[in-house]
Amino acid sequence: MTAISLGMPSVPTKLAERRKSRQIQVGSVAVGGDAPVSVQSMTTTRTSDIGATLQQIAELTASGCQIVRVACPTQDDADALPVIARKSQIPVIADIHFQPKYVFAAIEAGCAAVRVNPGNIKQFDDKVKEIAQAAKDHGTPIRIGVNAGSLDRRLLQKYGKATPEALVESALWEASLFEEHGFRDIKISVKHNDPVVMIEAYRQLAAQCDYPLHLGVTEAGPAFQGTIKSAVAFGALLSQGIGDTIRVSLSAPPVEEVKVGNQILESLNLKQRGLEIVSCPSCGRAQVDVYKLAEEVTAGLTGMEVPLRVAVMGCVVNGPGEAREADLGVASGNGKGQIFVKGEVIKTVPESKIVETLIEEAMKLAEQMEADGVPSGEPSVAVAG
Ligand code: SF4
Repeated sequence: MTAISLGMPSVPTKLAERRKSRQIQVGSVAVGGDAPVSVQSMTTTRTSDIGATLQQIAELTASGCQIVRVACPTQDDADALPVIARKSQIPVIADIHFQPKYVFAAIEAGCAAVRVNPGNIKQFDDKVKEIAQAAKDHGTPIRIGVNAGSLDRRLLQKYGKATPEALVESALWEASLFEEHGFRDIKISVKHNDPVVMIEAYRQLAAQCDYPLHLGVTEAGPAFQGTIKSAVAFGALLSQGIGDTIRVSLSAPPVEEVKVGNQILESLNLKQRGLEIVSCPSCGRAQVDVYKLAEEVTAGLTGMEVPLRVAVMGCVVNGPGEAREADLGVASGNGKGQIFVKGEVIKTVPESKIVETLIEEAMKLAEQMEADGVPSGEPSVAVAG
């Protein structure tokens, strides 16, 4: 039997060349340089509850998280770090505020990196020499994580508020202290809750250093608002080649952050697309319940990770065109559905059979893609029409 071409979606032209950044190694994940932009999240469990934390890390890993951060506000949390760092399937970054002693504990614990917030760590500048030495000895990179809400008091006085310039000056000042001790194994974030300030801060930072950048809109809000803020801000920066690793911050379970992060990267073709449902928004011409159809097809194909594009269209205006462009699709009308595979109508089925036919055909295509070794991505749903 001759193998048919499954038309694996080629990666379209990039919007911009990636900014040239230094590459650092966060455990098994390279960040910066030509490494793919990675997705991070942060656990919400008490880090000292080792079982719950490892369980959440496992869920995050399964949802496509590549690097995870854990908070370390107490000695009990610091004591839990060695086991968590050893047992986690993905690199663990310890997130340290206020207490410099936990920076050393996290480095000793074998964490893949340590995030420090220079704005609120006591006498941080005096500790840089020791931190740089310990980090160098253990090969541990440091993220200088400047946050609008905890900006260094000196810079707040100088600028009046957390302006892009203030965020950038804080980050570069701290980086320069590490550089004085020959330490450049650094990545930087300058987070703000306002995407406009955040975008400008990262643009300025990108122009003034070659460190890899961790993008984040801090305190972005509940899932809906936070998703939009992050998508807009990351989209603006990533489309200009700025950004090496991302964390979407949502007031929602961290798995949701990872899904959004992966979806942003896929939308910009910075990550291999997985299953993509292209469904029309429906309108007065629809001859079928598109929402229900799209939902049922999505539910039936949940878990499929091959880069299959499935079009679910409500009528014959754009239906045949979109369905033909997709790997698989349906154009509905007159109580029937025309089923397309690779641009050809393979059959027409009654409306009641559309979902099962699409799922059946999707399974056949997926099997063949898997047999052909087509790489997988994350599932997604897009709206056409
Ligand atoms: S394909 Fe376009 S025209 Fe037809 S129902 Fe969907 S949105 Fe309306």
